[in-house]
Amino acid sequence: MAGDQGHVANNKDGIMKIEEKVALCAIKHHEESHIQLDEAACKRCETKICVRSCPAHLYTIEPETENLKVDHTGCLECGTCMIICPLQAVTWKYPEPGFGIYYRQG
Ligand code: SF4
Ligand code: SF4
Repeated sequence: MAGDQGHVANNKDGIMKIEEKVALCAIKHHEESHIQLDEAACKRCETKICVRSCPAHLYTIEPETENLKVDHTGCLECGTCMIICPLQAVTWKYPEPGFGIYYRQG
């Protein structure tokens, strides 16, 4: 649309892919994580479904220790990990004011 400075069309359909939108986001991360895990619950968790569910792939399992880790610095603030965890092991809050993700493309 003419004059619409916020619209960016990068593929032949004129619709941005989600990956293209995410690439335009800015994240200012706080050094203190806004995501806390119940490590004991994670150790006994059989599904580790958070690893497959986080759209930013921030949950990983350390190969040596098999401990679960989450890197809060790329968080998209979607809340999926908190909702999907079967053991309620994720304590999640929004980052401090002025920190977190800034969506530039809605
Ligand atoms: S955060 Fe939830 S889903 Fe992920 S390993 Fe821990 S208990 Fe399992
Ligand atoms: S809130 Fe969303 S992006 Fe952030 S760690 Fe959880 S699932 Fe990943």
